[in-house]
Amino acid sequence: MISDERISTFINSLDQGNEPFLDELERKSLADDVPIIRKDTQSFIRFLLRQNHPKNILEVGCAVGFSALLMATYSDLDTKITTIEKFEKRIPVAHENFDKYDVNKKITLLEGDAADILAGLSGQYDFIFMDAAKGQYINFLPDCKRLLVKGGLLLSDNVLQDGDVMESRFAVTRRNRTIHERMREYLFAIKHDPELESVILNVGDGMAMSLKL
Ligand code: SAM
Repeated sequence: MISDERISTFINSLDQGNEPFLDELERKSLADDVPIIRKDTQSFIRFLLRQNHPKNILEVGCAVGFSALLMATYSDLDTKITTIEKFEKRIPVAHENFDKYDVNKKITLLEGDAADILAGLSGQYDFIFMDAAKGQYINFLPDCKRLLVKGGLLLSDNVLQDGDVMESRFAVTRRNRTIHERMREYLFAIKHDPELESVILNVGDGMAMSLKL
C-alpha cells in the first residue's frame, strides 16, 4: 500500500499466510529477485477466487509460477488456469514448479510474447489477471476485453507504480516516462470504457478491478 507502510505492515501481520509450499516458493522467488505479487495482493486474490469461483482463468505474466500456483490452490477443483510468460530464463523454472506443485494439473503455461499469444486465443475467460510489463497493459486491453465473458473480472496489478502514476510526468525519471504515460492512459481507458465498470484500489502496488458489463 502506497499511503502508509505501517498500515500495510499491520494488515499483513494479520494474514495467516498460504499453504507452506507457497510461502516457501515466495521466499525463494524474492531471494532470486523474481517479482511476484505482494502479500496484500495475494490475500485479495484469494478472496476474489473464493467469492467468484471462476472456472477459466487467464494470467498475463507468469514469472516462475507463484501467482498461478496460488490461484490453483485457492480456486475450485475444476478451475483451469492458462498463464503466459516470455522470459526464457523463467519458463523452465515455472515448468519445474508446476510439475512439483500443480498436483491437480490445472495450469497450462503458454510460452511467448503475450501480444502474439493473446491475439491467437479464442477461449472465454471469467477471470483475467494482468501482471506483465506495465507499459503493455494498454496494448493488451482490447484482447483481454474480447477474451473476457460478460460478468467476468479483469484484475490488473501494479497500476499505481509505487505512487509514481499520480505525479506529473516531469517528476518521473525520464526512463520511466513512457510507462507513466501508458499506465495513465490505461487507467483512463478502463475507467471510461462503456463496456467496463472499473475500480482502482490502493492494494499492494495498486490494483484495478474491471467488470465486463
Ligand atoms: N504473476 C507473477 C507472480 O506474481 O508470481 C509475477 C509476474 S512478473 C511481475 C511479470 C512477468 O511478466 C515477468 O516474468 C515478465 O517476464 C513477464 N512479461 C512481461 N511482458 C511480457 C509479455 N509481453 N509477454 C509475456 N510475458 C511478459
